[in-house]
Amino acid sequence: MSHHLELELKNAAKRLANTRKVTVLTGAGISVASGIRPFRGKGGLWEKYDPEVVVNIANFRRSPADAWLMLREIVGVIAVADPNPAHLAITMLQKMGLVRCIITQNVDGLHQKAGSREVVEFHGSTSRVVCLECNAIYPLADVDLGVVPPPCFNCGGLLKPDAVFFGEPIPPAALLRARVESQQCDAMLVIGTSGMVEPAASLPALARSSGALIIEVNPEPSWLTTTAVDIFLQGKAEEIMPLLLAEIEKG
Ligand SMILES: [Zn+2]
Repeated sequence: MSHHLELELKNAAKRLANTRKVTVLTGAGISVASGIRPFRGKGGLWEKYDPEVVVNIANFRRSPADAWLMLREIVGVIAVADPNPAHLAITMLQKMGLVRCIITQNVDGLHQKAGSREVVEFHGSTSRVVCLECNAIYPLADVDLGVVPPPCFNCGGLLKPDAVFFGEPIPPAALLRARVESQQCDAMLVIGTSGMVEPAASLPALARSSGALIIEVNPEPSWLTTTAVDIFLQGKAEEIMPLLLAEIEKG
């Protein structure tokens, strides 16, 4: 570990230790070590499938059976993924009373699998399906994907992964809560997101203008680093977060 990073970790830990209102904002970078590739990253399923085509609501409605043949492979990969040390460190910080809520852009459900609560899902989750006719929601695990498209248990309507597809709006309740949690936190931990894409992009600035300390964890500096960040911890989420947790536990 570089001397600079060591000092920054101590600085971040010291300033976080006395707060009880930390909001965490996570993006694709936190789940890479769990084997889930970001849309625009190299390797994995997204070299085989174009997300703008597969995860597109107009295409899904037009040919749901074809869409499900691809989607069941994608949701299958996500369903067997395990949380990594970054997700687990956040859960520990929540158990210690520091973290109040987690706003995530990810659809993988790994924060909940790691035991975190109060997770605001901007883009929904592939751990559930939703009926496009009656809005019933079921766990993905209850659905037989040997039949495509799978029918709703309630009305026979079309089931879709409960993740936000291209062409669909962000759930308004998640958006509202994310804004409130950003305005009311003492500190925001931004992990594994470059902060380029709305609506997540404006949350660190919103938190900062409300007086919160902003800490960023990313492998490389991002657009946020120079515009909204007080402390930048450079490295992979699964490496930095356990180190930060250990510093806070030292007290
Ligand atoms: Zn239904």
